[in-house]
Amino acid sequence: MSSEELIERFQSIGLSAPKAKEYARNAKTSAAFVEVLDEGKVTSENEKKLSLLYNLAVLAKNDGLDPKHRSLVTKAVVDERLKTNLQIQEAVKYLKTKGDDATEEGMNEVSGVGIEITKDDVRKEILNYIEQNKEEVLARRYAGVPSLLGQAKKIPALKWAAPTDFKPVVDEIALELFGPKDERDVVKKEKKKKESKTEKTQQPVKERSMYSEGFLGELHKPGQNPQAFPELMDEHLAFTKGKVFTRFPPEPNGFLHIGHSKAIMVNFGYAKYHGGNCYLRFDDTNPEAEEEVYFNSIKSMVSWLGFEPWKITYSSDYFDQLYELAEKLIEVGKAYVCHCTPEEVKAQRGLKADGTLGGERFPSPYASRTVEENLTEFRKMRDGHYKLGEAVLRMKQDIQSPNPQMWDLVAYRVLNAPHHRTGDKWKIYPTYDFTHCLVDSFENISHSLCTTEFRLSRESYEWLCDALHVYRPAQREYGRLNITGTILSKRKIAKLVNDGHVRGWDDPRLYTLEAIKRRGVPPGAILSFINTLGVTTATTNIQVVRLESAVRAYLDSTTPRLMLLLEPLLCEVVNVDENFAEEVEIPFKPGAEDKLGTRKLKFTKRFYIDRSDYRDEVDKEYFRLAPGQPVGLMKVPYNVSVKEVIRDESGKVTKLLVNYDSDAKKKPKTFIQWVGESNVKKIKETRLYNQLFTSENPSAHPDGFLTDINPDSEEVIKDSIIEAGGFNEIVKKSPLNIGIEGSDFNINETEGPQTVRFQALRIGYFCMDKDSNGDDVVLNRIVTLKEDSAKA
Ligand code: ATP
Ligand code: MG
Repeated sequence: MSSEELIERFQSIGLSAPKAKEYARNAKTSAAFVEVLDEGKVTSENEKKLSLLYNLAVLAKNDGLDPKHRSLVTKAVVDERLKTNLQIQEAVKYLKTKGDDATEEGMNEVSGVGIEITKDDVRKEILNYIEQNKEEVLARRYAGVPSLLGQAKKIPALKWAAPTDFKPVVDEIALELFGPKDERDVVKKEKKKKESKTEKTQQPVKERSMYSEGFLGELHKPGQNPQAFPELMDEHLAFTKGKVFTRFPPEPNGFLHIGHSKAIMVNFGYAKYHGGNCYLRFDDTNPEAEEEVYFNSIKSMVSWLGFEPWKITYSSDYFDQLYELAEKLIEVGKAYVCHCTPEEVKAQRGLKADGTLGGERFPSPYASRTVEENLTEFRKMRDGHYKLGEAVLRMKQDIQSPNPQMWDLVAYRVLNAPHHRTGDKWKIYPTYDFTHCLVDSFENISHSLCTTEFRLSRESYEWLCDALHVYRPAQREYGRLNITGTILSKRKIAKLVNDGHVRGWDDPRLYTLEAIKRRGVPPGAILSFINTLGVTTATTNIQVVRLESAVRAYLDSTTPRLMLLLEPLLCEVVNVDENFAEEVEIPFKPGAEDKLGTRKLKFTKRFYIDRSDYRDEVDKEYFRLAPGQPVGLMKVPYNVSVKEVIRDESGKVTKLLVNYDSDAKKKPKTFIQWVGESNVKKIKETRLYNQLFTSENPSAHPDGFLTDINPDSEEVIKDSIIEAGGFNEIVKKSPLNIGIEGSDFNINETEGPQTVRFQALRIGYFCMDKDSNGDDVVLNRIVTLKEDSAKA
């Protein structure tokens, strides 16, 4: 279809001309939209529904959702079961993660179909929230309304409320509670400034904690998680002494990324907050994907984020116990060895011939084998009589349950691969579904915290613990942290690395934790940021620029400042002697002399400024050095003014002859950076980073994510200089960073070149890169000083 035809068709079904044009703009997404319209048999609809369908088309395309699953969602949008983008997102996520195990009922459930939240419900929940935070809400009055609105949107019970209901309700309640605005609600600029100053000198404000509110604030106390066999709780408590026990269970098959830092904080941090313990448990049940580097990197990243595992364990430590329990499960008649093909298993799970779900479900013919037969067969699996795919051990759950996680999941599979830790002892390996809950049980986990895609697994988790009569930990699910504007997928990062688009897995433009560390982002900045986001059951989507601005704010209050000249320009003072020297003292950070100290600099006959701080002509917005416009040099008592400009044949300025205006103290229009000749340290490379991708959703680029790479994502400068004395002092004393007062997230990060961090006046925040070698220093720009300067 030509673009005109598309626009015509879109208008004919009810879209306005500009919308129709917008939707027709991109050939691939408009094609996807047309497919959705066709499968939904849409001939005429209101614009809101059409926009939902369009968003669905884009989302399904980006996520690679297969057509049969997409049509389930389309249908649900058309018949108005799904009314918001959030619902669609949840539905797509569910279908995508469950794949062939997905059902329409399951989709309805996760996307809140049929849950009607009225405005009254919204009001009730918000009032309830206010009741619990009464003091603060009343004290802040109207100034607290925006944050109240933010909190209201995070109330779990309101997840499916109409997004437009919140503001009117909050406004209405505010009016009832505080009455009309009066002088208390007038925010004077002056007053605000003063207040924040006195705040700083008085008690630091205690930050809010993700551990005491939201999802984590509402978790049960140890010992209060329900048990099918209450006597097991006594044993559990005898071990834990009533303390919180959690675990962070990464699969050692890749490097951790920014999303994992939330999981680390949730698990390690929650235990720490309550004086409990957290395991670092390597979930190593898939021997084929594991490599030594991943184990080491994961350990090092946990420690970089300031956490210390109570114990480091491996799921494979428990292979013997797991095997015994598998036999026990057979003995109690709740597991059987199955030889069905994948197609047969799909049929049993109600996957119809045309590929859609919803067919009649029926048990495997092997489900009725005797215990003896199952034991014999399982031991044959163990002893290598079967090849991959010829036999699996399945749990005998409930094929008629609406929950796909109850459809006789696989517990053990044949996999004749050597294991990182157990060598070739095993020819069968337990699955995640069998292992995770049991190892949680062995380790006496009080709170098994995972992300919401495991919501449906909770039932099988509990079923298995109960079937085996072991302590049942409580699985609870929180929302993932997603970063947009970059990619986190292992496969795609591997592509970037292998094709040489980046310097490696820790390239500072990536969002693996190794990369973020190398880039110089302080671990405390990540923790503080995640803490301010809070934890709920909803997925948190964050743009990379938002993360950057949090990092910027953190660096602003924690790092010393230095003068760095990216492109130095020599200046010579004409009216002083060769041995002239004026000593000036500059604090490393104004206002923090007590913590960071000061350094002394010598202003001498020859010094450097940054080339960008000189221009041949002035204009209204240019305040720095130019003929006829003197300028101040940071902390130097008098101004300098241009006497003569020396150029090479091409006209490029090579040197400025300047006058030191010591006869008259005049306030300059501005002050610029400078480095005295005797204090020059050359920097081998200064690497300036910008966004690696140009769009918010690189994976959605119609020609592949590689096409979305920003050609200017890295700029390397070879001849910059820095003040030697100050830099050497920072290196020697590194980490010379102050924490945030009153924060629980100050981390004492002591090792690595990235701890040498500073703000380079005017240019940005920098750290030393690991490519530095002795005197050869390489710098990374962590972030720019202002949000938009990286785009320019
Ligand atoms: P990915 O799919 O992104 O590679 P993963 O789930 O395969 O991640 P695991 O090693 O299994 O990686 O993750 C360890 C833990 O970290 C799990 O409990 C998982 O739920 C959690 N986790 C992974 N990604 C995120 C995220 N984006 N936000 C919060 N927690 C996460
Ligand atoms: Mg995983």
